[in-house]
Parts: sequence; structure tokens; C-alpha cells
Amino acid sequence: NIGASDSVKLLKDQLLGGLLTAGFDEGSCLSRYQSGVYHKGLSGEPSPNLIPRLRRYEEKHKECGPYTESYNKTVKELRSGQFTESSACKYVVWISYSGLGNRILTLASAFLYALLTDRVLLVDPGVDMVDLFCEPFPHTSWFLPSDFPLNGQLNNFNQKSDHCYGKMLKTKPITNSTVPSFVYLHLVHDYDDQDKLFFCDEEQHFLQKVPWLIMKSDNYFIPSLFLMPSFEPELEDLFPNKEKVFHFLGRYLFHPTNYVWGLVVRYYQAYLAKADERVGIQIRVFDTDPGPFQHILDQILACTLKENLLPDVDHQRDITSSSGTAKSKAVLMTSLSSGYFEKVRNMYWEYPTVTGEVVGIYQPSHEEYQQTQKQMHNQKAWAEMYLLSLTDALVTSSWSTFGYVAQGLGGLKPWILYKPENRTAPDPPCKRAMSMEPCFHAPPFYDCKAKRGTDTGQLVPYVRHCEDMSWGLKLV
Ligand code: GDP
Repeated sequence: NIGASDSVKLLKDQLLGGLLTAGFDEGSCLSRYQSGVYHKGLSGEPSPNLIPRLRRYEEKHKECGPYTESYNKTVKELRSGQFTESSACKYVVWISYSGLGNRILTLASAFLYALLTDRVLLVDPGVDMVDLFCEPFPHTSWFLPSDFPLNGQLNNFNQKSDHCYGKMLKTKPITNSTVPSFVYLHLVHDYDDQDKLFFCDEEQHFLQKVPWLIMKSDNYFIPSLFLMPSFEPELEDLFPNKEKVFHFLGRYLFHPTNYVWGLVVRYYQAYLAKADERVGIQIRVFDTDPGPFQHILDQILACTLKENLLPDVDHQRDITSSSGTAKSKAVLMTSLSSGYFEKVRNMYWEYPTVTGEVVGIYQPSHEEYQQTQKQMHNQKAWAEMYLLSLTDALVTSSWSTFGYVAQGLGGLKPWILYKPENRTAPDPPCKRAMSMEPCFHAPPFYDCKAKRGTDTGQLVPYVRHCEDMSWGLKLV
């Protein structure tokens, strides 16, 4: 028997304090409404400016989304190449590209860019995006329609394409050229100095006029947006706490579809829910040989013991007497290989813990190698990232966007396992992250005003070099 004020509070919690909008059919996307039951709630409150800004975006998306009058008009202009600069709706088209962790980070980046430039984000469904994510904006769709005129070219755009912005800059000065109806933005890790001028205000001034921006990236480029004077004031308003940018955007945008949600909920209830504490360990090994490797196992154990995340085992004793109230820990391991999981699980079976704690080790899948185009594979990968985000303490691997997504959604500052060199376990094995933000792996090092190179990790206190990649940038 809950009173009216209780049910208002319940709805407010369900909708993450207003970050999510009501106005969806609950059954179509259960994770939107149930995530609050499994997550510990949001980490901190979103800025009061962020929530109305999201509502305004949703309105705009509804007005400009697929097959609206404005959409049809701009598509027609795209086909003919003739357009009026005053058109009410301009777009960012996000190309589905790279591994799932990368895609989640670039989609959040593209959304924030759309927000800052008053554009509407349309998502190339690729092979599996529809199976992975619910629609985030009500009464419209974020997916690019199947008859969008550039669909046939999306996967072929590259730095040599005539519409590539970097290439355009190389061929002739942009200031006095006519504005094209679309521009391809190449923001992939191999981009060159001209492509990187995207991160300069002067170029943004030109891009502002282009109705369709087609974007391909595999990087979380938000840290560099914070270094642009034209965006910085609004970013400050929307995200006064800079280490929560992906946390809020991620929880706003990324809701697992019902099938993926089933994977999350069944696993959580069966293996994680009853434990006193949950520890996540995300193992990603960037090596041509699939492993498992002894040095990685040594590193995992060294880190979790040193940081008191897991108890040591007692090799001298057969059994530790417990008073019957032993604390339990559930450890969720994710890896393409099952080798680490088996070793750690056996260790806690073969020997008692020194503390008397009961430790259970679980790993949902071991897919052996990356299979980016297989549907079920990425549904499992998404479920595993989400499950990791539901833990109380998280250990992640250097350089892995899979881990970044988990930490960001969970609002967790992980312990990052340093990247091993020459197949030896590094000492120290891991380090606590400065913030829960993902790392931008390929940032520009350019001072747009002075027109020369600069260390962009030294300009402001809230954009720093990453713990796991010395040249990367992250918000702290
Ligand atoms: P990153 O390469 O670690 O930055 O992460 P990505 O998610 O972008 O790409 C790695 C891809 O490999 C994932 O999308 C999965 O398809 C797969 N993968 C890597 N690690 C795991 C894992 O622990 N579990 C599962 N199910 N898949 C994984």
C-alpha cells in the first residue's frame, strides 16, 4: 500500500532523478525502468542545467527525426546538393564502426557534439545496434532510415573521400569555398593533422553551416571538446563535475534491449545478488597470442591482494573454522579466455581464505576471440559490460574501452592493471584511476590559436593524461 508521495518518489528513482524522461512504453524497454533496482543509483546528481537541456534535445529530435517534414526536406536537399542555409534541422550521422566498447564511447561523444552544436544525432544501425540498444528519445527514432541516400557509402568513407573534411582542407582553403550539403568527418585513431582541425573553433565555424555531418570515430573525444573555447562555457554549465560526463550521458543513452536485459538480470540474480560484496575483474589482453598467460594471472592476483579486493589463501591449513557468519564475495570475471577464471576459481576451492571469507568466481562467457560482426557475441559483450558496472569494486585492463564503459556506467573508479611489457607482470601491478571517465586514446596536440603543437594534457586542471596511456587525455 504505497501512498501518492511514495509512488512519485519511486518513479523519480526509476527515472534517475529526472535524467530519463517518462513517456515510454515500459514493456518495450524494461532496462530503462529496472536499472535502478540493480545499480546503486546515480553517482552524484546531474547538473540542473543538464536535465532541461536533454528535454530540449528530445523535442528537437522529435521535430527533426526520420520522416518528419524537416527531415524529408533536408534529405531532398542532400539528394539535389542544393540547400538553403537556414534549414531548421541539421544532423550528425554516426557510423557504426569498431568494437562495442568503442562504439558506446563514440556514440556518447557524437551525442554530446550534437547537443553542443544544436544538431540531431542519427545512428547507423550497422549489423547489430538495433538488437543491443533501446531507443533513448521518446516518440521518434534515433536510427537512420534504411532509405537514407548515403547509406551505400557509409562504410566506404575514408580520408581519401572527396567529402572528407581533412582532404577538403588539403585541397583548397575552406574559408572561401562553397558549403557542401554534407561533410565526412574522419575521427578514427589514424586521422591526420587536417582531420584533427575538427577540434579548432575556427573550423567549427565553417562546419556549423553544413547540414549533414557524417562522423566515423573509434575514440572517446569528449576531453578535447572541453578544451575548445566555443564549447567550454556550455560544457561547464552542463557538467560542472567533469568526471561524471560519461556516467550521466551513458546512463541517459544506453539501455539494453529486453533480450540483453534478460542476460543481465538472470546472471545477476543467479550468481551475484546474494553476495555481501561484488568484485568485477575485466581482463583484456592485447597480444597476438590468445593466452592465457602466467604473468597476467600473477598480475591479477598481485593487484587484488595488494589492494585488499580479494583475500589471500592459506596454503598451510585445510580449513578455516568459521562462526557461521562468514562474509561472501562474488567475483565477476570477464575475458575472451577462460584460463584466468579457472585458475582463480580453483585457488579458492583448493585452499581456505585467511579471513574465512567465502569467495565465488564467475565468468559468463569465453568467446576466445573478437567476433565483431556476430549478433549474439555482442549481445553477450554488452551484457557483460553492464554486469561489471553493477559491481562494488572494479579491476580493469589498460587500454580497454570495454572496461571504460563498465566503470563509467557504474560510476566506479577502477583499479587499472598496467599494460605488461615483454610478457612480465608490471610492478606495481595496478593503480587506482583518478576518475571514472574513459580515456581519449588519440587526442590532438595542437594549439589552434597559436597554430603550433602543444601538450593538451597540461592546459587545464580537468583534462589530464590517462593512467593507462601516457599520451591519452581524460577528464578528472
Ligand atoms: P576494447 O577492444 O577492449 O577496447 O573493447 P571493444 O568492446 O571495443 O572491442 C572488443 C570486443 O571483443 C568486444 O566488443 C567483444 O565483442 C569482444 N570482447 C572483448 N572482451 C570480451 C569479454 O570479456 N567478454 C565478451 N563477451 N566479449 C569480449
